[in-house]
Amino acid sequence: MTSGRLSGKVAIVTGAAGGIGFETAALFAKEGAKVVCADVNEAGVKKSVAKIIELAGADAAIPFKVDVSKEDQVKALVEKTVDTFGKLDIMFNNAGIMHPEDDNALNTEDRIWDLTMDINVKGVWYGCKHAIIAMRKSGGGSIINTASFVALMGAATPQLAYTASKGAVLAMTRELAMVHARENIRFNSLCPGPIRTPLLMDFLNTEEKKQRRLVHVPQGRFGEAIEQAYGALFLASDESSFVTGTDFRVDGGLASSYVTPE
Ligand code: NAD
Repeated sequence: MTSGRLSGKVAIVTGAAGGIGFETAALFAKEGAKVVCADVNEAGVKKSVAKIIELAGADAAIPFKVDVSKEDQVKALVEKTVDTFGKLDIMFNNAGIMHPEDDNALNTEDRIWDLTMDINVKGVWYGCKHAIIAMRKSGGGSIINTASFVALMGAATPQLAYTASKGAVLAMTRELAMVHARENIRFNSLCPGPIRTPLLMDFLNTEEKKQRRLVHVPQGRFGEAIEQAYGALFLASDESSFVTGTDFRVDGGLASSYVTPE
């Protein structure tokens, strides 16, 4: 039996084909969890699982294709997890989009707003709802929802739907933490700072756009996906057993900053 910080635990990671999701799923598996890697990108999530199996063994992970904005698919994801591994201990609702046409109040179209809310907010709600149903049966668990530093700070480079969606994730997570606190189900938001993943680097596609952000980051660099994974690992493990309802920032100091070092 593997001994690790998540030994004996069963986890779902959504967005597991992407930067933060893959690194977290791989770290969870290395720490002894069985991981269901879920993503709308089926080929991508199969690649993630193949890499995780190389790192952590043949029974460490399975892929599952899911569109988190569709409740029946999220329900099926949780049911498949419980059928395969017997229970659910950790739900990492991490899938999200930042649409290139997301803009300010005047330019953002309804369809971009609705798509963003469907995935980033409803997707997290559905993930929480079906994880609660499963976790009640096994006596509790840890649910981590990926929000963002933009839910805590204003930015003059607008992406209005995304920012509003991540604010909703923070508020929803806090309330869920209170409602389910006596059921041993913990809820925390992970608030990444700007991370060097395809999601952000495709959006900041010139050096000028990158520098416009970096000047505000006290540590003077973009974060790495693995640094988010270590934050999620702490929140997933029993080491954080008295931590619930937090906006857990892994942001290089960004949300504490007024003036950054030269
Ligand atoms: P990413 O684009 O690399 O990964 C996101 C993953 O979500 C992709 O694999 C994508 O296929 C998947 N996805 C998109 N829509 C989906 C759907 N409907 N159903 C299932 N899966 C879907 O991005 P990332 O940087 O790893 O982002 C992960 C999370 O972190 C997101 O919620 C994002 O908003 C958040 N975040 C990222 C940054 C950053 O700087 N990269 C900063 C703050 C917050």
